[in-house]
Amino acid sequence: MSRNASYVRLAGAYARHELRRRLRRRPAGGVRRLLELYAPDHLLPMTESERTLLPAASACINCGLCALVAARVSGLRPSDLAAAYLRDYPRLPAAASDIVGEPSVAGLAEAAAACPVGVPLPGVLAMIRRLASA
Ligand code: SF4
Repeated sequence: MSRNASYVRLAGAYARHELRRRLRRRPAGGVRRLLELYAPDHLLPMTESERTLLPAASACINCGLCALVAARVSGLRPSDLAAAYLRDYPRLPAAASDIVGEPSVAGLAEAAAACPVGVPLPGVLAMIRRLASA
């Protein structure tokens, strides 16, 4: 078989594959079933603002500088917000009692300002609260 004939057969096979793929019916309610599957583990869809926030929120190097500026925020060390609480969504509800009261906005802003990698601590706290309470 010539090389050109092989290319023609390959193109035909690929075209059939694409056609089948596009015509294949997807099971109904796939998104709903996906959400139900992950809901017990508190793996929820993120909001648009959380998606925007996540790269910066994940940049924590656990240096502890924010904890030097604000020892406690809402009952926990600010350095634990991104370094610990944001890393294990399924266990967040168990930590919900750690996040109590309203944080000092000024304290949290000062802690965030001290962060060398720019972790947005107020946004991280809001995200953790939402995920923990879900
Ligand atoms: S200062 Fe920033 S990088 Fe350091 S522990 Fe706090 S949040 Fe993490």
